[in-house]
Amino acid sequence: MKTEWLRNTIKDFEPYFVAPIAEKHVINANENYFNVLSIPAVKQELIKALDTFKPQIYPKPMADGLRETLADYIGARPENIICGNGGDEMISYLLGTFMNPGDTLLVHSPTFDMYELGAETLGASTIKVRDLAGYRRDKEGLLDAVKKYQPKMTVICNPNNPTGDLLPASFIEEVLKAADNLVFVDEAYMEFAQKESVVSLITKYPNLVVLRTLSKAFGLAGMRCGYLVADEEIINAIGKIKAPYNLNSFTQLFAPIVLKHRDEILKVRDDIVKERNRLFDELVKIPGLTVYPSCTNFLLVQVENKHEEIFKALKAKDILVKIYRNSAELPEAYRISVTTKDVDDTLLEVFRKELS
Ligand SMILES: *Cc1c(COP(=O)(O)O)cnc(C)c1O
Repeated sequence: MKTEWLRNTIKDFEPYFVAPIAEKHVINANENYFNVLSIPAVKQELIKALDTFKPQIYPKPMADGLRETLADYIGARPENIICGNGGDEMISYLLGTFMNPGDTLLVHSPTFDMYELGAETLGASTIKVRDLAGYRRDKEGLLDAVKKYQPKMTVICNPNNPTGDLLPASFIEEVLKAADNLVFVDEAYMEFAQKESVVSLITKYPNLVVLRTLSKAFGLAGMRCGYLVADEEIINAIGKIKAPYNLNSFTQLFAPIVLKHRDEILKVRDDIVKERNRLFDELVKIPGLTVYPSCTNFLLVQVENKHEEIFKALKAKDILVKIYRNSAELPEAYRISVTTKDVDDTLLEVFRKELS
């Protein structure tokens, strides 16, 4: 391959690295430990539905049945929803629909990488507003930047990955009022916060786009299903670039079954939230360690020293966390997905021993 074949904007990118996994307890990607197929009714309904499943036929382009179920779940109209192969695909579609080369994307920082990567791929540039101390968002700084730059798109990840910080819906409404252009709110973890969703604001603000996913609270990361909620004109505009059959038939069959049993699945979410609070309370007590309050299913933790040693000691106990290496914004940090008490007890034991 000739290097000059590469699109100019991605020449310096590294392929997205996913660490090879040998550990038993993988808590580096905010996956849910719960398998929805362990609910007997979910499994039975899926098996029954497979009787009429036709893999030889193309899927419904707009996932009609699924978007009706999702509309019922979030309290929107099906016309305000577009589904795809995970939230990541929906981020690409959104940026691809609206970002020109030379446009600007405004983000708070640190946050999820995909916004910046996607924007830069398209030749757009990113303006970042650094968090305040303690990784809480700089609200005033964000509002000032919106007014000063009027970026094509302002991105707010709420609650934020990897810091866990939750902004009130009232602040997002201030951003919506200040912005002449699009405001994209990524609510991948909103089920864990259980408040401050701005989905209901789409009828009031035609510049608002909200992302949700079934990968986190619903435990369907491997199935791939994400969706955008916005004014119908934005949904239709995304149709300009969406691949016609982007969401496979199996996901369209299975996701509505899972959503039907959401009460049971969201009880697991409640357990994770309780366990997160317990883990937080225990981590806070460990000297030499800083943990940040989180409204998600993960905790951001920093240590004063032994960063690499603790990562290795956790691996020796079969636990894989997300480690941030050589990160100016997240020095000596890990992101820990919350699963079950036994895993967290082992994790706590390692931290206590290494930092004592
Ligand atoms: C996990 C995640 C997503 C989407 O994940 P998918 O599995 O692609 O649906 C989007 N935004 C953030 C911040 C995430 O952490």
